[in-house]
This record gives sequence, structure tokens and C-alpha cells, in this order.
Amino acid sequence: MFNKVLVANRGEIAVRIIRALKELSIPSVAVYSEVDRDSLHVKLADEAYCIGPANSNQSYLNIPAIMSVAEVTDADAIHPGYGFLAENAHFAEVCESSGVKFIGPSSEIIALMGDKVKARETMIKAGVPVVPGTEQSLTDIEKTLELAEEIGYPVIVKAAAGGGGKGMRIAQNAKDLKKAIQTAQREAEAAFGNAEVYMEKYVEEPRHIEFQILADEHGNVIHLGERDCSIQRRHQKIVEESPSPALEEGLRYEMGQKAVKVAKAVSYANAGTVEFLLDKDNNYYFIEMNTRVQVEHPVTEYVTGIDIIKEQIRIAAGEKLVFNQDDIKLKGVALECRINAEDPEKGFIPSPGRLEEYIIPGGPGVRIDSGVYPGYFIPPNYDSMVAKLIVWEEDREKALSRMERALDEFFIDGIKTTIPYHLRILNNAYFRKGNYHTNFIHRRLNNEK
Ligand code: ADP
Repeated sequence: MFNKVLVANRGEIAVRIIRALKELSIPSVAVYSEVDRDSLHVKLADEAYCIGPANSNQSYLNIPAIMSVAEVTDADAIHPGYGFLAENAHFAEVCESSGVKFIGPSSEIIALMGDKVKARETMIKAGVPVVPGTEQSLTDIEKTLELAEEIGYPVIVKAAAGGGGKGMRIAQNAKDLKKAIQTAQREAEAAFGNAEVYMEKYVEEPRHIEFQILADEHGNVIHLGERDCSIQRRHQKIVEESPSPALEEGLRYEMGQKAVKVAKAVSYANAGTVEFLLDKDNNYYFIEMNTRVQVEHPVTEYVTGIDIIKEQIRIAAGEKLVFNQDDIKLKGVALECRINAEDPEKGFIPSPGRLEEYIIPGGPGVRIDSGVYPGYFIPPNYDSMVAKLIVWEEDREKALSRMERALDEFFIDGIKTTIPYHLRILNNAYFRKGNYHTNFIHRRLNNEK
């Protein structure tokens, strides 16, 4: 096992990783930016080092600064969390060549899956269904228009290096498509420094179903069931649940097998997520594989009883998985609401500031993953997520009641949050029936009185 692990992240995920390290009796090293001096991850870690100013390019993305902390503290592994450097193949490579274990898959796999055009190509070869679309990135506009006619409008133009729902544009016709390509290219260049885009058929009202994969470094691969992440705003998830209300046992089995096939096709190791779109006729298509721990991993932890972060650490240390597929049984229902410091009344503008009041819900089956505390000042520089509220109950109806009760108990003052918005989602009749898709917010909530 590792002697010491550096956590190259901030906020709730840094706290989550430090907690897992403590339980494994592994000393932890936190890194932080100048505005994060008072952050919870800094308080909880065994050691903490400032790595630069608030701007993440100079701190949480500053590879030389992070590597020097690893060196001076004698850390023999780095957990990157999600976001920041978690899917940066160059960072993983720097770790590999410095003899510091990167807790995640190899740099080659990160690079392969980070290029969605290459990932699609690999999946086609492996016999995994992908959304009909281009086999290469778009260069020839005439050919693209022809192909769009062939697959049928609407189509969606997506960034090859995409993430976080950025660099995506839907086109209803040929005229739209020309514009969509240009806009998506511009957005992709600005967000990822790579203007490469590709095109897929726009699947109407699909569900976003993803499978959690665990793979050790000895070729053993299992999945931990699925999460339904169809409740999205601007292609970003806001509520997640496991299991999906849309999957019958047979389809779950089949999609799970495909997800394992995806991981095996690239000799994947560590935790990862295979994302699919599921259409109304139960056709499913691979859209991407995320090569890191996901924000929504706790819902899977609740229904499987497996600690995904600890598994990541054990796998990276070279240990074999101690369970096989038959050992994995999904029990009950878990839901997660992402509570953001945003004002839902004012177009979700960020609402940073001091937490004058912060009283969290509790009781059975309630879990809060958060990096904040009463009196903490939320800086404006980073992601607006304040806390994840996760609940578990033995069936969906009870889990919904528990979530509603927990949201009602959550008191935050000093900033605006998305708690009232979550209560609206939870009280929507379609959502309660489990009858929803990725356009739910747009179709079922925004038009509501
Ligand atoms: P990112 O990496 O930016 O999150 P994804 O490829 O995972 O991008 O897609 C994010 C979301 O965008 C999906 O969950 C879905 O809601 C929507 N989306 C992506 N591709 C399609 C498609 N071909 N048809 C319909 N919706 C799509």
C-alpha cells in the first residue's frame, strides 16, 4: 500500500478522498490555492501546501507545483479527483515518469478516451453500438451535409475533446448545421484549446444511463450497475439515481455486459464510467467513457455497499478485486441532488459568498458530501457546487420522501442555492413516476406554472 497520497483537488471530492485515506490509515497531503486557505480539505489533511494563486491555471492545474509538493512530502501516489487534472493524459504521464502512482488509468487510456472521435472508432471496432455519426472529425462541409441527410436531422455537433456539456450544438437542418459547426468549433477551441468537432444523430428525448466500472490491473473487470443521470440542465447533470427506473433486469444485464466489453476493449484499469444514451425503443448507444471518479459515485456506493474511492486506491496499489460480478447486488434506491451556489430565480447566476447559516439534514439514509462549513466563504473562482445530498431507501417512493424531507431540513443562508429548484423537480409528477429524459427540465419543468 502507499506510504502517503497527495490529493490534487479541492472541495467536496478532496474531502471525500482524504476521508477514505484516513480510514485506510494512509497519510494525506492537501494542496490549495491562496483563496482556499480556510477550506475543509486543508483542515482535514495531515499536511497541506499552498501551490499558487486563485486562478486554477496557476494552482490546481499547475503540474510543476503539484509535483514538487509530491517530491518534498515523499508522497508515492496522487489522487486527482474529478475535473482539474483528472483527465489530463500529460499529467498522468508526468506522474508515471516521476515514479509517483497516478490513481486512475494509464495516460494512454486517458488520451484515447479523451479524444471522443478515437473513442468512437475504438468502440465501433469492438462491436459496441455508438450513435450513428461521423467516423472522423469534421473537415469537409459538403460531405458532412451529405452524411447529415443520410442519418436524418436533427443532428448534434460535439467537441472531440469535449466535457462538461461544452462545445455541443444541435442542428435541425442544413442551414443550422453550417452555423452549428462554426459555433461548436469556436466554443471547443476556447474551452479545450482544440477546435476538432464531430457529428452524431441527435437522439430525441433519450435517457442518460451510465455504468460504473471497476477494473484491476490484473485483467478483472466488473460493473456496479447503472446510474440514471437524465435530469440535466444545459447537458449538465443535476439529479442522479441508481438503479434507473427505466431498466428492466434483462436490459440492465445486456448494457452492463456491453460496458464491461468497453473497458476490456481498451484493457482499462481503475474506476471508470461508460456512458450510454437509451432511446424510447430501448436502443442504447455508447457516447463516452469517463476515466475518473464521477461526481455522482455515491449513489452507486449506497446501492452496492462498495466504497469506490477506496477501491481506486487499492487497485492503483496493485491489489486484485476481491469481488466478482455475481457478488454485486443492487439493493434499494439511492438519489443524489447537486446543491449549487446559484440563484435559480435569476437564470442560475453563481451566488458565491459567506455561509451565514449552514445546517445540514441528517437521520437514517442521508449522506452529505461537501467541502464547506458554517461561516465558510465560498470563493467565486471555482465550480458552484456546495454540497451533494444523497439519500437511500428500500424503494423509490420511500427514497423520494426521504429526499424531500432532507431538502426541507437543509438550511443555507448568506448565499442562494438550488435547493428550491430541487424541490420543484422532486414534486413533478413525471419525475415521481420515473418518467423522464434528458429534456425533462426544458419540457416538463420550465413550462410549469
Ligand atoms: P460531455 O462530455 O460534455 O458531458 P457527453 O457526450 O457525455 O458530453 O454528453 C452530455 C449530454 O449531452 C448527454 O447526457 C446528453 O444529454 C447530451 N447528448 C450528447 N450526445 C447526444 C446525442 N447524440 N443525442 C442527444 N443528446 C446528446
